[in-house]
Amino acid sequence: MNIYKQIVNTIREAKQIVITSHKSPDGDSIGSSVAMLEFCNSLGKEAIICHPDAAPDFLLWLPRASEILSLEQNEKLVIEKLQEADLIFCLDYNDTSRVGKEMQPLIDQSNAKKIMIDHHLNPATFAEITFSDPTICSTSQIIYDVIEFSDNKDLLNSKIGTALYLGIMTDTGSFRFPSVQVRTHHILASLIEIGVKHYEIHENVFDTNTLDRLRLRGYACSEKLEILPENQVAIISLTKAELKRFNHQKGDTEGLVNVALSIQGMRAAALFTEADDYVKISFRSKGKENPINELASNHFSGGGHANASGGRFDGSLEEAILLFKQVVSKYIKPM
Ligand code: 5GP
Ligand code: MN
Repeated sequence: MNIYKQIVNTIREAKQIVITSHKSPDGDSIGSSVAMLEFCNSLGKEAIICHPDAAPDFLLWLPRASEILSLEQNEKLVIEKLQEADLIFCLDYNDTSRVGKEMQPLIDQSNAKKIMIDHHLNPATFAEITFSDPTICSTSQIIYDVIEFSDNKDLLNSKIGTALYLGIMTDTGSFRFPSVQVRTHHILASLIEIGVKHYEIHENVFDTNTLDRLRLRGYACSEKLEILPENQVAIISLTKAELKRFNHQKGDTEGLVNVALSIQGMRAAALFTEADDYVKISFRSKGKENPINELASNHFSGGGHANASGGRFDGSLEEAILLFKQVVSKYIKPM
């Protein structure tokens, strides 16, 4: 039996399905989770989404995103649901450490069957079914494949389609990264065919700002952007006080690191944001010869894709930036 049908059979046999994804949810983790929820429902199965963190406001327009339970906000219920589950989907992450240290033991110690569907490099081997394909742009695209190649294309509807379109769109920077394949566009076309309003999704994600969000981004670019000319690297850093000043909400700095990378001549960019007891960093780079995920995993307890990764630093913002400046030339080669 092919893996697509194996996944669907496992759904059919399950009684308590819980859909999980990584910390700091993005469009692909929310999109793939909601699409899987809708697909399970189309198969006549109840399911529930339990994420470590709540969805950012800028993705709450997606129907059913507001149903997502988070360990952060619904601790008791999420623990209960994970303990009762007999099938856990692990979407858009390659290792249970990616759900964070609070949720990781709940998944590691669960007796439920696990299905990992993911597109990050180096998948861990904790799941009964591991569907990992780093050549595919997004987990959402893989879920489309699961639906089509398990012979369930008749179950595709605009609700599933809208969630999948969101995930593909956000993980490909609006269909412009090298990860986009001809197949990606065929899938997008078929989603529009079944009634997905692509223009509404773009507007909801990219043309909807709060004034605070826009001002924070403007401030970050005009006051907090530093160029390391000899490395061809751009850095933005934001302190807790600065985030507070602009009433920072989750997702407000999404994509900001790509804005820094867009400066002519840059080979890499990093965004440092100060959190309560650590510093969160987003890394981006250009070209196969500049694998920024190696920098992330060797120095910032992180990882990700070769040109888009993230990590954390336990220490001050200044120390994090200093470390980055010390090591960046090992990984990023100026042209
Ligand atoms: P972002 O910068 O958008 O938060 O993350 C970009 C990519 O980096 C994500 O798709 C994910 O693959 C990876 N990533 C972000 N943060 C972490 C982290 O703390 N650990 C690991 N292993 N990967 C991360
Ligand atoms: Mn993804």
